[in-house]
Amino acid sequence: MSGTRDMGMDISSRPVEWASLSEITASDVSFEGGAIFNSICTRPHPLAAQVMADNLHLNAGDGRLFPSVARCESEITNFLGGLMGLPRAVGMCTSGATEANLIAVHSAIENWRRKGGQGRPQVILGRGGHFSFDKISVLLGVELVLAWSDIDTLKVDPESVSELISPRTALIVATAGSSETGAVDDVEWLSRVALSKGVPLHVDAASGGLLIPFLRDLGGALPDIGFRNDGVTTIAIDPHKFGSAPIPSGHLVAREWTWIEGLRTESHYQGTARHLTFLGTRSGGSILATYALFGHLGEKGLRGMAEQLKALRSHLVDRLRKAGATLAYVPELMVVALKADSDAVKVLERRGIFTSYAKRLGYLRIVVQLHMSEGQVDGLVDALLMEGIV
Ligand SMILES: *Cc1c(COP(=O)(O)O)cnc(C)c1O
Repeated sequence: MSGTRDMGMDISSRPVEWASLSEITASDVSFEGGAIFNSICTRPHPLAAQVMADNLHLNAGDGRLFPSVARCESEITNFLGGLMGLPRAVGMCTSGATEANLIAVHSAIENWRRKGGQGRPQVILGRGGHFSFDKISVLLGVELVLAWSDIDTLKVDPESVSELISPRTALIVATAGSSETGAVDDVEWLSRVALSKGVPLHVDAASGGLLIPFLRDLGGALPDIGFRNDGVTTIAIDPHKFGSAPIPSGHLVAREWTWIEGLRTESHYQGTARHLTFLGTRSGGSILATYALFGHLGEKGLRGMAEQLKALRSHLVDRLRKAGATLAYVPELMVVALKADSDAVKVLERRGIFTSYAKRLGYLRIVVQLHMSEGQVDGLVDALLMEGIV
């Protein structure tokens, strides 16, 4: 950002005294410094960052001027569909899983009404569901019905979901990687429930979508979260989390267009495509960046990233156990949690270490991400010991 002066911008001529950006960003925390243990996002892959920087002018909302964006978008859909067991899946890039979840819920409600649904529609999900569904329920007037969930991990009880299904159920949501605990709902079981009751099933795999297929290969006892489960209709995946894509990079993949086209809107201009997303002007640069990144990494590169993350997590868990800590549960994805009181997070922050606190569960929450080294993980455990947190 030091380039503003080089570009001939005379900041001093502004009517107010503006601080320089380097002054302003001096208080930001860097991913490289071994301080960030709370972030589900990480520094974007350098190739993706470069492609994004080179293509900032591309507007995904204008396919006439920038046909490259639609082409990259559909290639990303094919790639993610393949990863989810359905290479002919359809889909779209979104600003993130909040928007992907919104589109999936809205489209499900449209379908439910078309089939004669009456009254206020319901969406059933576990207590590990993301708070984006709280926003969505406000916007769409949908009622969230919370199913019984495990008290340690918030993983949903599929039998409870089955019992809650009613004529007002427009959608079931499975969480494949709860953001609080990383727990993965039993999508295989939920799929059977959804199929038997004729209700669509959306999988919120924002954080797990790029991890679970590979962790399964590496021997993790995780369910198949993809379209091989016949009941699964849509899946949200966030490349800007464990895919190292630049923000904004979300994706919604679907078995059929009908599950994601509820927002289909004609533009007022000849020759520009219909919009399916909630956003109008959208970052085309991030779509090209995600395309380039997945093309570069392929499934092999993503598997390597999952392997690296798994090794980091094992290192953290080993160090914690050696330090005498008791984990709140056996981690499934990249969230490792310890029972602690909320002061622990503040105490660590005073040492310049950022963790987070899951208020509803009373957990100190550590997110394992690619910007960490084993040495930095050791530094975290040392700090936990020195502060008497473990
Ligand atoms: C991060 C996350 C979301 C929200 O995604 P954004 O990309 O922040 O919009 C939704 N669900 C889960 C499970 C998440 O981890």
